[in-house]
Amino acid sequence: MARRTFSIGGVHPNDAKISRDCKLEYLPIAPTVYIALSQHIGAPAKPVVAVGDKVKVGQVIAEPGAFMSAYIHSSVSGTVKSIGPRKDLSGNNQMVVEIAVEGDEWIESIDRSDTLVTAIPDDPKAIIEKIKLGGVVGLGGATFPTHVKLSPPPGKTCEMLIINGCECEPYLTSDFRTLLEKGEQVVVGTAIIKKALGVGKATIAIEDNKPEAIGHITKVVESLKSKGPEYSGIEVLPLMKKYPEGGEKQLIDAVMHRQVRSGGLPIDVGAVVDNVCTALAVYEAVQKNKPLIDNSVTVTGECFPKQANLVVRVGTPLNYVIDYLGGVPESAAKVISGGPMMGKAIANLEAATMKGTGGLLFLTKEQTKRMPESNCIRCGKCADACPMGLEPFLLNRLYKAGDTDALEANAAQDCIMCGCCLYSCPAGIPLLDAISQARGQVMGIMRARAAAAKATASSPTAK
Ligand code: SF4
Ligand code: SF4
Repeated sequence: MARRTFSIGGVHPNDAKISRDCKLEYLPIAPTVYIALSQHIGAPAKPVVAVGDKVKVGQVIAEPGAFMSAYIHSSVSGTVKSIGPRKDLSGNNQMVVEIAVEGDEWIESIDRSDTLVTAIPDDPKAIIEKIKLGGVVGLGGATFPTHVKLSPPPGKTCEMLIINGCECEPYLTSDFRTLLEKGEQVVVGTAIIKKALGVGKATIAIEDNKPEAIGHITKVVESLKSKGPEYSGIEVLPLMKKYPEGGEKQLIDAVMHRQVRSGGLPIDVGAVVDNVCTALAVYEAVQKNKPLIDNSVTVTGECFPKQANLVVRVGTPLNYVIDYLGGVPESAAKVISGGPMMGKAIANLEAATMKGTGGLLFLTKEQTKRMPESNCIRCGKCADACPMGLEPFLLNRLYKAGDTDALEANAAQDCIMCGCCLYSCPAGIPLLDAISQARGQVMGIMRARAAAAKATASSPTAK
């Protein structure tokens, strides 16, 4: 029987998982780390340490700045040297806490043993509080605070938890290695999230280009069934490899055959989606009291001398990661944070890793060459490839005409920036550049409109 996949659009780029056999390796700690105060969706965290303070690994250094925010912990032990702006990956200033490393002293409450803890706390609220205190955010790219995601608004109920093990972005393999090497922790993390949500069913979805991971996790799920009722109702679902299967809406379609409407959320159709590395972080926060202080990062590219999947302390300078593996090769023309389809070009290699950093990809000049742009031949390939059912050629035209009303009417705001349109276009039209700008404009207008409506509703003259 054909494997399931999402129903609209999608493409099949070469998956180029050349680092797939590289086991997770712990990167030695850098001499100095720079921990950003805004590494999640929502308000930046507020620092609770001062220059000169001594900190330990796992100590809180910043508290959530709003409901939609997250705790930040020190990933190292040492002395706070400064708190101030520093350039991030894109070259924009970000507030960071600079810590000079001294030793590797952890706060005592963290259980650093390898013992797998399978007994899950009874109280869902206590679980969510631990996840919040652990600073856990979504590690599939969105960095949405996990405790917020696990607290659906009144009237919304989760019917299924989906754990995203697709890793559909070409080149990236850190999720795959996590499934193979920390599969037990991922499955316990899945059971914990299931319990927090009070949901009976969880599906761990893995694309069928990772048969070893499918086999291993299937065995782990089976072996943990005897550990308690929380471990029943978990299934492993192999999906047909197709990009962008790991997109939240595409994954819900593939697993549940439900469509999230424009502007809607997964919970509107009864789904909560979390990445496999988020499930691991949940396990560590709840069962080991270990906050999110490190994450796995694939370092790869045909021109890069040593492929790797590294476990990196949050705030480690990219230069330090790269130098550890032999430095930037002469043939590299571009470094990308993430994969080639959705990743962002790195403008500043002195920037530091964040919770959501999942990959560093080195590309040669040849690999980054774009085909010369020619006129649209109205072939419709971009529309066929768009997994959101948009018409990229039309959005491109409307953007050039500056018609934001028509862009909104044609749902530019629904673009998930997957790059399938650009990948498919035989005319080399930079569709993604235009559509991402258009999306930003429309979303800005929608936010301003919502704020104005809120202000009007709360004005005394409106009553
Ligand atoms: S980048 Fe946006 S418009 Fe292009 S295919 Fe993806 S969702 Fe569609
Ligand atoms: S794929 Fe390119 S050439 Fe074809 S319709 Fe879309 S924009 Fe035009």
